[in-house]
Amino acid sequence: MSEPALPLRFGGGRYAERPLAPPLSFDPASLALPLAELEQVSKPVSRRLAAFGLETVGDLVEHFPRRYEDFRDRKSIRDLKVGEEATIRGVVARVSAVRTARRRVDVVKALVRDETGAVEAVWFNQRYLAKVLDEGAHVSLRGTYRPQSGRASFVVRSHEILEAEDEAETVHTEGLVPVYPASEQVSARLLRSLLRAVRPVMRRLPDPLPSALRAREGLPARAAAVLAVHLPRDPGEAKVARGRLVLEELLLMQVGLLLHKHEQQHGCPAPALPPPSDLSRGFLESLPFELTGHQLAALDELEADLTVARPMRRLLQGDVGSGKTVVALYCLVRAAEAGLQGALMAPTETLAAQHADTAARLLGGLVPTELLTASLTAAERRAALDRIAGGEARIVIGTHALIQQDVTFARLGLLVVDEQHRFGVEQRDELVRRAERESCAPHVLHMTATPIPRTLALTVYGDLDVTTIAGAPAGRRPVVTRLVEETQRDVGYDFVRKQLSRGRQAYVVCPAIEESDSISAATAVAEAERLQAGPFRDAGVAVVHGQLKAAERDVVMAAFKRGDVQVLVSTSLIEVGIDVQNATVMIVEGAERFGLAQLHQLRGRVGRGTEQSYCLLFSNAETGAAQARLDALLETTDGFELADRDLEIRGEGQVMGSRQAGTPDLKLARLARDREALLRARALAADILADDPELAAAAHAPLRDAVEAAFGGELAWLLKA
Ligand code: ADP
Ligand code: MG
Repeated sequence: MSEPALPLRFGGGRYAERPLAPPLSFDPASLALPLAELEQVSKPVSRRLAAFGLETVGDLVEHFPRRYEDFRDRKSIRDLKVGEEATIRGVVARVSAVRTARRRVDVVKALVRDETGAVEAVWFNQRYLAKVLDEGAHVSLRGTYRPQSGRASFVVRSHEILEAEDEAETVHTEGLVPVYPASEQVSARLLRSLLRAVRPVMRRLPDPLPSALRAREGLPARAAAVLAVHLPRDPGEAKVARGRLVLEELLLMQVGLLLHKHEQQHGCPAPALPPPSDLSRGFLESLPFELTGHQLAALDELEADLTVARPMRRLLQGDVGSGKTVVALYCLVRAAEAGLQGALMAPTETLAAQHADTAARLLGGLVPTELLTASLTAAERRAALDRIAGGEARIVIGTHALIQQDVTFARLGLLVVDEQHRFGVEQRDELVRRAERESCAPHVLHMTATPIPRTLALTVYGDLDVTTIAGAPAGRRPVVTRLVEETQRDVGYDFVRKQLSRGRQAYVVCPAIEESDSISAATAVAEAERLQAGPFRDAGVAVVHGQLKAAERDVVMAAFKRGDVQVLVSTSLIEVGIDVQNATVMIVEGAERFGLAQLHQLRGRVGRGTEQSYCLLFSNAETGAAQARLDALLETTDGFELADRDLEIRGEGQVMGSRQAGTPDLKLARLARDREALLRARALAADILADDPELAAAAHAPLRDAVEAAFGGELAWLLKA
C-alpha cells in the first residue's frame, strides 16, 4: 500500500482516553432495541420519533449532528457583559410568572445566584417553567445579558436543571452542543438527551473496518468516533471523528458498488464478438460526417468491451449534441453482424422514433430493424414480436415496451439504454435483469447526456465503467446565450423574427408549474396563442405539453421537424435528445425558475448543426441562487463545468433529482466537501477487493456485514457466500 493516507490521523491519543468497552461484549440486539423501550421515552414520544424516522437505538446513533454550537464560554455572574451571550451556573432563589398586559406574553422570571452575584433570568412564553423550576434547584443557563425594562436581566435561550451542582453533566447549555436535524415534533433537545442516554451502546459499537486498514490509515475506532461526533470535547475531536465516519460511509458504499460490478462481470459470460467485418466497417465508411477524436476513442473502448466474454457494463456520457447515437448504432451493428440482436431503448416514443429514423438513414436498410412502440396496432405488434423472437429483427428500437413480458429476443447480445437517467432506476435494473433472463448476460451500454462530476459519478454510477465523449463535433459553434430582462422583451422577439426570416426555427419554453401539469399545459397553450396573435403572427406557431397524448405530440414534433411549424412552444417537457438542426434559437421564459442542469439540457436543443445558435433567457432573476445559475450559463456551455457549478450551488442532494436505488443514503458525507475522502474510499475499496474479491476472509466479515446492511436488501443476493 504505497498511497499516502488521508490527513485523518488523530493526534494525541485523545480517543484512547475514552472509556471504551471491549468490542467483544457488544450485543447487536442493542442497536435493534426500539426507542420505545428506553426509560426516557414515553409512548407519545416514541410515536413522534418513529414518524421522524427514528425507531431503534441504531437509528438514533446514526442520526448525526449537522453542526455544533460552541457554548464553552461559561462565566461567573459577576463577569457577564451587557449584550454578550454566555453560559452561567447557579441556584434558583425565587420564581415568578406574569403575563404582560399589553402584549399578552407569558414571562417567567427567576433570581439565580452563584458565588459572585445574582441575576434575574427571564424566559418568554414558557409558562410551564414556573412549575418546573424549584427554589434551590441547580441550573445551567445559556443566554444573553441585557438591560430589560430598566434592569439588567439574563434572557435565557436554553436551560437545564442539574441533578446536583458538581457531578452534573450538561447537554444543552455548555461545551460543544450538537445541533441535530430536528422537527417541530422531535426537538434537538430531545435528541440530545436521548443520545446521551444511549452512550453505553455507543461505547461498544463494533468496527466494520479491518484493524490493519485502520492502523494504516490512522483511523480512530468506530465507537470512539461515534461518541466524539455526538459528544465532542472540542472541535478538533469532532472533526477527526467526522472524517473517520465519512470515510467509513463512503468506503462501505464503494465496496458495495465494486462488489456489484464484480458480480455482474464474473457471473454469466456475455458473447465475445468476433472482430469487425464488412458490415460495421461499411457503416463507419458511409457516415455523412467524420467522427470526432472523442467518438473514435469511445468506439475503441466499447470495441474492447464487446470482444471479450466479460459482460460490458458501461456508461457513455457525453454532453448534449456530442454525438452518442452514432456510437451506439455502431455497437448495435457489431452485435448484428455477429449474428446476435441489439436493442436500443429510449425514454419516449418520440425519441425512439427519432432513433429509428437515424438508424434507417445511417444504416440504409442493411440491417433488419424493428421499431417497437406503444402506437403499433395489435397485429403489427404481434408481427414485430414474431420477428424479434425468430431472430430476423437484428436491431430493435423502442421504449420500455421493449422489456414487457411478451417480448422475447432470440439472441440478445447488446442492450443500449439511451438517456438512462430518465428511466427510474428500478426500471433500469429491471431492464437489465429482463435482458439477462433473455440471454445469459448481454452487454449493456447506458448513455446519458447529463454530465455529472466525477465524484458523483463514482457514487451514482460506481458499478459502471465510464466513457466520456468530451466536446462536440467539429464545426459546432457554442450557443450564444443572453439574458433578456422584461424591459427588453420586444428586442428579444425582434431577434427571433430575424432568425425566422432567414428560414430558421425557434423554441419557446415555458416553465412547468410544479403543482399542476394541467396548469403548465394551459400556460403553454395561452403563450402559444399570444405569440401567434402578436410577436410571431407571420409564423406558424404550435404547442406541445404533457397533457397531449403521445400520438398528438408526435404529430406536432414531426411537423416541426419537417419545418411546417416555425415556432414550437412547449413546457419544459420538451424532449431531451430531440434533434432538429434547423432550430437555431430558443427563448426560455422565466429562466430563473429552472434548475441549471435543466437549462443546460434545454439549451442543448439548439446549436446542433453548423449554424450559429442562440439562447435567450427571459428572466427577472433576483435571488442569489437563481442569479448564480444564470451567470454560470452565460459563462460556459460546458456541461461538466456546469455540473460542477451546480454541485456547488445546490449541494449534491438535489443534483441527481432522485437517487439511485440500491445505493445507500449518505448520512454524513457531502460530496462537494468530501471529495478527497471519496477518492480515497474508492482506492481503498479497490485495494481490499483486489486481495479478497468476495470479502471471504474472516477479517473482512464485519466489513461484509456492514456493506450488506448499508445496501439493505439490494446487495444481499450479491453477497451470497
Ligand atoms: P447526443 O449525444 O445528444 O445524443 P446525437 O447523437 O443526437 O447527440 O448527435 C447530435 C447531432 O450531431 C446529430 O444530428 C448527429 O447526426 C450529429 N453528429 C454526430 N456526430 C457527428 C460528427 N462527428 N460530425 C458532425 N455531426 C455529428
Ligand atoms: Mg441522444
